[in-house]
Amino acid sequence: QANERESMYVVSEFAKDYFHKTLLNSEPGKAIGLTYFKERGFSEETIGKFQLGYSPDTWDAFTSEAIRKGYKLEYLEKTGLSIVKEEKQFDRFKGRVMFPIQSLSGRVLGFGGRILTNEKKAAKYLNSPESDIYHKSKVLYGIHHAKQSIAKEDNCFLVEGYTDVIQMNQLGIENVVSSSGTALTPEQIRLINRLTPNITVLFDGDAAGQRASIRGIDLILEQGMNVKVCSFPEGEDPDSFSRKHTLTEVEDFLKENAKDFIQYKASLLVKEAQGDPVKKAGLVRDMVESIAKIPDVIKREIYVQECARIMDITENVLFNTLAQIRNKGN
Ligand code: ATP
Ligand code: MN
Ligand code: MN
Ligand code: MN
Repeated sequence: QANERESMYVVSEFAKDYFHKTLLNSEPGKAIGLTYFKERGFSEETIGKFQLGYSPDTWDAFTSEAIRKGYKLEYLEKTGLSIVKEEKQFDRFKGRVMFPIQSLSGRVLGFGGRILTNEKKAAKYLNSPESDIYHKSKVLYGIHHAKQSIAKEDNCFLVEGYTDVIQMNQLGIENVVSSSGTALTPEQIRLINRLTPNITVLFDGDAAGQRASIRGIDLILEQGMNVKVCSFPEGEDPDSFSRKHTLTEVEDFLKENAKDFIQYKASLLVKEAQGDPVKKAGLVRDMVESIAKIPDVIKREIYVQECARIMDITENVLFNTLAQIRNKGN
């Protein structure tokens, strides 16, 4: 079992090098992949740092080369790099630009591949399947490059996508990781918590996922971490925003707009209730559910005071609701 995993790591490392070399040295790699990354504003240094790549737009160029080099089809299949169907072999990531996903220590665990055309025929991003070395719920994209900076800055920015991590990193904000489109998991939060108790969640300015992401944040509170949130202007994400602004501008934007999560949620709920008392009662409960997740009693008390003010309700009502919820839950 340990040997199998080792073989999977080795073939993944080979794949990362193959895709990276293909991007930099092959004609289609340069004309299609490299052009694409340059148009997105990624420098050569950044492309090297994140070991970005290109998977040729043929059925099996990668798989054939791997086998020719002596890698076993078994491990190519187990890592999901190759797909075997009716005794034929195919490249999973054919024609995509590649983002290797690395562990904390820098081992390649899997890949994200982005389609280049804007056709809606295929998924925009395709990821390696879950495997013995790639457990989606335990991985954070960018953690290998971010870990030092997270500890130094004593804060971790959490963004939605690969390109957000890369673009912010290139601008000079290195304490950034992404859960790559999936809901945040307790394991991912623990990984951050080993480096800092402070998380700032950056939302794309497309609102769609925000309400859903907010629910996931209770998980962060449960682990006793301090959470701030910051949304980007309509239509922008950290990637597009970082491209249009200087480092100082982005830093200032983050400082001005990152709000304490509990305060942010309270204001959001007040807006949603719009003075309707029945709605408000439900939302107060929703708010207290979040506060109830906070392990520290003093912090809970401070938040109750804050929320009472923001939601215009007595502290007593909030404390009573809190007591009810905590007696039921814990
Ligand atoms: P880009 O700027 O390249 O269009 P993005 O990172 O802004 O990409 P979003 O639509 O904001 O893309 O999605 C955030 C993240 O969710 C992506 O980086 C990716 O990890 C994941 N994701 C998005 N679309 C898909 C998809 N169709 N299938 C799987 N994962 C996806
Ligand atoms: Mn988005
Ligand atoms: Mn985005
Ligand atoms: Mn984007």
